[in-house]
Amino acid sequence: MSSIPFIGSLFTSSAIAAAPKTAGRDYFKELNVRPFINAAGTYTTLTASLMWPEVMEAMNYASKTFVPLNDLHDAVGKRIAELIGVESAMVTSGAAAALTVGTAACVAGKKHEWITRIPDLAGTGMKSEVIIQKSHRYGYDHAVRNCGVKMIEVETAEELEKAVNEKTAMMLFFNDADPRGKIKVAEFVALGRKHNIPTFNDAAADTPPTENLSKYNKMGFDLVTFSGGKGIRGPQSAGLLLGRKDLIEAARMNCSPNSDSIGRGMKVNKEEMLGMMVAVEMFRKRDAAAEWKEWERRAKLVTDSVAANKAIKTEIYVPPIANHVPTVRLTWDKAALPIIADDIRKQLRDGKPSIEIAPGSSPAKAEKQEIGVGVWQMQPGEAEIVARRLREVFNGTKTA
Ligand SMILES: *Cc1c(COP(=O)(O)O)cnc(C)c1O
Repeated sequence: MSSIPFIGSLFTSSAIAAAPKTAGRDYFKELNVRPFINAAGTYTTLTASLMWPEVMEAMNYASKTFVPLNDLHDAVGKRIAELIGVESAMVTSGAAAALTVGTAACVAGKKHEWITRIPDLAGTGMKSEVIIQKSHRYGYDHAVRNCGVKMIEVETAEELEKAVNEKTAMMLFFNDADPRGKIKVAEFVALGRKHNIPTFNDAAADTPPTENLSKYNKMGFDLVTFSGGKGIRGPQSAGLLLGRKDLIEAARMNCSPNSDSIGRGMKVNKEEMLGMMVAVEMFRKRDAAAEWKEWERRAKLVTDSVAANKAIKTEIYVPPIANHVPTVRLTWDKAALPIIADDIRKQLRDGKPSIEIAPGSSPAKAEKQEIGVGVWQMQPGEAEIVARRLREVFNGTKTA
């Protein structure tokens, strides 16, 4: 009995001790890592987007107790599939991981021996080719090649039909590349259907709009992925794989927590699973029209800030597929305004507060200089700061 008050006081004192310890702590300052205003967009190296507070609440909730991981995986997948209106869903450790485990599902299916053999496909009887349009090749197809498959490049529908054979495991489509390819999105799906080959659409950066979450599955794609930590504002280390029930089941078997699988390193724990689910809920619930209006307001604030400088051409545009949000582009000729984009970037970065604009730059030697300003990841009050700083930096430059 005498130990009871002791336990009681232990809990009390540890709770009291724990609170102030983290509350006042400025970790980034401690570590000398620079926080900045995100005037770029959802770039992974810039930590992409900020999670909804509700996502953090769900993650905190999940962090306090143990549950059977596969049961949670099942339940969260089921809830997400219902919310979005697709046949089946799973949370992955990002869209790139979804590309890998989705491909593994098409290559090895649910066959244990094959799952353990990936990426060594030779002599196993596993299908080993993925058909892709040449204009759709991109860095992320490495995530597909991880499974040991060979990419078969085609340009026309006729070439695609000729490329199909008994080794064809999957057909990969990079959604943002649609305008560049000869085979458009609907025809691509139809060809997959005709030849009974699973089709996979990488739409990682293609939210908003909300409707896109179900659009491509409804169109007929067997697998679709979205990044969790971009427009949806879920955990940056999470993503969605949506599609056919049998393929999602197979993708689960090719993924963590199964130790002898290609996806074992692509672990998702209970916090990210729950966080991703709540992010989908929040993303669907948000006031998209009000959000869009606010982005337009910010974009105008930014272009207005440099409008007096006639050497600068200002533009507000909306990319058609990926990052489909109001975005600012400022361009100028060096002859009229002798400063290079990288100098503007550096001054904004080195100022107080630090500001990051979109990465990628005009070469210093180029006559035409350009910077991109993304407004959708700015926090309240920051558009005003970015507008002021841009005006200051450009005004500090002498016009020729
Ligand atoms: C961002 C992106 C990915 C990777 O997404 P993660 O969630 O960071 O793994 C894959 N494909 C495309 C087209 C992307 O834009």
